[in-house]
Amino acid sequence: MAAKKVCETTSSWSSKKLMEEVQRWSGMKPKGVSLRYMMEFGSTPTHRNLLISAQFLHNQLPIRLARRAMDLHSLPFGLSLKPAVLQVRDWYLDSFRDLRSFPEIKDTNDELEFTQMLKMIKVRHNNVVPTMALGVQQLKKSLDPKIDYEDLDEIQQFLDRFYMSRIGIRMLIGQHVALHDTNPPPDCVGYIHTKMSPVEVARCASEDARAICLREYGSAPDVNIYGDPSFTFPYVPIHLHMMVFELVKNSLRAVEERFMDSDKVAPPIRLIVADGIEDVTIKVSDEGGGIPRSGLPKIFTYLYSTAKNPMDERSELGTANVATMAGYGYGIPISRLYARYFGGDLQTISMEGYGTDAYLHLSRLGDSQEPLP
Ligand code: ATP
Ligand code: MG
Repeated sequence: MAAKKVCETTSSWSSKKLMEEVQRWSGMKPKGVSLRYMMEFGSTPTHRNLLISAQFLHNQLPIRLARRAMDLHSLPFGLSLKPAVLQVRDWYLDSFRDLRSFPEIKDTNDELEFTQMLKMIKVRHNNVVPTMALGVQQLKKSLDPKIDYEDLDEIQQFLDRFYMSRIGIRMLIGQHVALHDTNPPPDCVGYIHTKMSPVEVARCASEDARAICLREYGSAPDVNIYGDPSFTFPYVPIHLHMMVFELVKNSLRAVEERFMDSDKVAPPIRLIVADGIEDVTIKVSDEGGGIPRSGLPKIFTYLYSTAKNPMDERSELGTANVATMAGYGYGIPISRLYARYFGGDLQTISMEGYGTDAYLHLSRLGDSQEPLP
């Protein structure tokens, strides 16, 4: 019954009313949650808790979406008007409207219907990253090539806010949806693994990165992993997998490019997992020649890559999400956002002429609040 009501209400909204609503909601303050809170709350997914969770999302997601929609509206250098960016903005507006049109969630039936809608919203936003990247690419092409990266700082900051917020939205939706799983894997609370072995996840992510390297270069250096495989702590394995995958991919590429035409054996990449009291730190260390000091600040920007851009070949919207070794310049900045989302960080130190060390810090305490741009 609620679904029917949704359709009638949304279709009757004029775009003026929608924009007024978006503006009003964008002024509200979002509430953040911590990893620990998500874990404790989700460990008893009773009907009552699922209802509370749905009501929280019903109230919070429109705020987060509205803030991003307003941001998308007022970007510098005409970025807001690029077709790809308009497409992304429409997804945000559609999802905002769907959420705001959903009636109050009073019982389990409403909750289940709402959860179905959340799943649909998550799918709608699947291609946001490649589509935004395409928009930025379109802008980059139309800009004066002499323009300095520092002038694009506003865009950089916007993208950091935008993607950070996206990580949070997807985490909250994914967590809520996963709590409905009647037969969850052992020690899992939604996306959170309460006994995650960072060594195991790193091994799996390194193998995935090596497979891509093998496909692209015909060979792949070894990745040697040091650390105690039986050490565990609560974290989100898909986040860690993604971060290690990106770092190892960068190292593999650097080593391959450096040793491709040499008769020396490519030196292995060393991945060290250290368990401290405050942090779990993962160092990815390579002998791929390093990054010049002048290039270091740029690697955290979304506009910098030394690889050929794969989107030049596949420029259609939504087809740019095939895994490749490198090319978007997104691996490092996005990984840093994932690390920061739960209170961690990512640093890169380079010795030009030798190699690069990336330090991925993951907060072990799990009580830092989500950053809420
Ligand atoms: P993708 O979005 O596919 O990851 P990318 O690898 O170019 O593309 P980043 O991972 O953000 O993007 O890295 C940006 C740039 O930093 C790379 O193009 C490369 O020039 C440099 N870089 C990153 N890691 C290393 C490394 N370990 N050794 C040498 N250069 C590196
Ligand atoms: Mg990369």
